[in-house]
Amino acid sequence: MDKQVNSLDSELRNRAKKVVPGGMWGHMNAAALPEGYPQFFARGSGSRLWDVDGNEFVDFMCSWGPIILGHHHPEVDEAAQKQLARGDCLNGPSESMVELAELLVEMLPHATWAQFQKNGSDAMTTAATISRAGTGRRKILVASGAYHGAVPWCSPSLLGVTAEDRAHIVQYEYNDVESLNRAADQARGDLAGIIASAFKHDYGRDQCLPTREFAKAARAAADAADAALIVDDVRAGFRLNLGGSWEAVGVRPDLSAWSKSIANGFALAAVTGNERFRDATSKLFTTGSFWCSAVSMAAAVATLTALRRDNAIEHMERLGGMLRDGLGSLSKTHGLPIRQTGPVQMPMVLFEDDPDNRKGFAFCSATVKRGIYFHPLHNMFLSAAHTTNDIERALDAAEHGFRAVRDSLTNSAGVSRN
Ligand code: PMP
Repeated sequence: MDKQVNSLDSELRNRAKKVVPGGMWGHMNAAALPEGYPQFFARGSGSRLWDVDGNEFVDFMCSWGPIILGHHHPEVDEAAQKQLARGDCLNGPSESMVELAELLVEMLPHATWAQFQKNGSDAMTTAATISRAGTGRRKILVASGAYHGAVPWCSPSLLGVTAEDRAHIVQYEYNDVESLNRAADQARGDLAGIIASAFKHDYGRDQCLPTREFAKAARAAADAADAALIVDDVRAGFRLNLGGSWEAVGVRPDLSAWSKSIANGFALAAVTGNERFRDATSKLFTTGSFWCSAVSMAAAVATLTALRRDNAIEHMERLGGMLRDGLGSLSKTHGLPIRQTGPVQMPMVLFEDDPDNRKGFAFCSATVKRGIYFHPLHNMFLSAAHTTNDIERALDAAEHGFRAVRDSLTNSAGVSRN
C-alpha cells in the first residue's frame, strides 16, 4: 500500500503544529516513529485500524495496550451505549461501579476492594500514596528504567521535575534480589512501598519476566518492613493472567494498579488492594472530575466478562506464538538475528547489533507501508480479535521488512565506502 503524498495526515500535522505545542505530545508523537507512520486515525474495528487517509493497518499496538478484545467490540460498545443513554457523568457513581468492584474482587485473589481512577498514572500515584498513608512512612522502591506514569514522582523525563519530587524514591534493579534488598536496607525504618512492574517491559530494552526468587524476595522485603508490595499491572493487566500477572510466580501484592485494557479502550483505571490497606484507602482524599464516569465502568464489566468467557488469553498466546515463530524463522532465513523477548502476547522485537535502531526502523518502515502497524522499540500487543490471517499478513510484510533491512545495510556500506 503506497501512502498518499498530499495526505490529510500531513495537512492535520501542519495545522496541529500551529495550535498544539510540538504538534503532538508524549509517546504518541508519530515524529518519533519510522517514516511512513500516520499521526491521525479515523477509525478501528476488530484487529484493524484506519488512518485519516483511508490506509488500513493490522494493529499490533492495540492503542498501546487498551484494546484487548479488538476495536469496537460489539458487547463492550453496547454496554457503554446503554449506560450513556442513562447517564455518564452524574453527581456520583452508578450501579456499575459496585458491579465492577465486585467483579474485580471475585477475579483477583489478592484483592478485597477496588477504587477507580482514569489513567495508569492516577492509579500508580494513588497506590504509592496509599502505601504512605497506610504505613506512615515515606520511601518507595522503584526499579530503574521502569515506566509508571508521566507525573513528577516517576516520569522518565526530568524536565520540570525537582529533586524534591524524587526525594523518597529509592531505585533497585528488576529481578536482582541483592539490589532489591540493598534498596530496602537503605530505606530501613522509612519504607512505605515496593513497586514492581508485572514484568520488565522498559522502552527499547529486552523484556524479562519476574523470577520467582525476585517476586518472593519483594514480598519478603515488604513483609519484613510491614510495607506495601505494589504490582504495576497497568500495561500487562488481563493479558497474562486474569487473576493478576504475579499469580504466575505465586506472589500476591498488597496493592495492584490497573488501566489500559480494563475497559477495552474506555478511559478507566483502578487500584485494588487487601485488608491491610483498606482503612488507609478509605481515609485518603483522592478524587477526579471524571473518576466515577459510568460508561467506562459499564464497559469494564463487559470487557472482563468477555475476557473470562472467551479464554482470550489463550487465543492471544496462540497467535502471539505464531508471530514469534514466524519472525524467528524469517530472521534466520535472512541472516538478520533478532531478539524476541517477554510474553508472546506482548512481543518485543529488537534487532541484534542495532545501536542506532537503524535496522528496526527500516524494518517497521517497510511493514507499515504494507499495512502492518508494528513498533520498533516498544512492546507490542496482541488482542482477542487477531486472526491467523492477520498473522500471515504480518509475516508476509515482515519478509519485505527483513529485505528492507538488508538493503539499508548494503546502501549504508556503499555510502561509507564512497
Ligand atoms: N504503568 C505502566 C506499566 C504503563 O505502561 C503506563 C502507561 N504506559 C502507566 C503506568 C501510566 O499509564 P497512563 O499512561 O494511563 O497514565
